[in-house]
Amino acid sequence: MCRYAAKTYKPHYACFDCRKTFKRRLLWDINRSDEDQEIQAKCPQCSTLMANMGKDFAAPKKDNIKQWELLKSIYSVGINFHSCGCSGPGYIPNSKESLIAHFNEILNEYHGHLKYWQLKKEPGNNTEKEKQYWLEKIKEAEDKLNILNG
Ligand SMILES: [Zn+2]
Repeated sequence: MCRYAAKTYKPHYACFDCRKTFKRRLLWDINRSDEDQEIQAKCPQCSTLMANMGKDFAAPKKDNIKQWELLKSIYSVGINFHSCGCSGPGYIPNSKESLIAHFNEILNEYHGHLKYWQLKKEPGNNTEKEKQYWLEKIKEAEDKLNILNG
């Protein structure tokens, strides 16, 4: 049983410009039918749209500009800090290098999946779909790595 499934929690929203985080109640706590809706939150200080960092997010100190810059680039490649808590806290890298290493690991894993489907002796209905799926995932991860390697 997921310990967060039945419980209300407030995700952290971050403003990269002010280097601040705020907690906000999820919209779907109020209106369940809006579950899929993208929840947008504006920074109370500068009114910029904030990033939803999930509940496992631990904000760096305000004057730790380097760490904030890193978080911004992490967010730009689509990692956030959501996890349901079933397998521990979400992945939070502490440097650009470890972020790149993380993506390389993911990439390796995707290649493993792809290989599995490519080598499958008795292809089923899903084989082509699966191959396509993992090819796309690989492409995605490679794009992110390219952004990070700048
Ligand atoms: Zn702000």
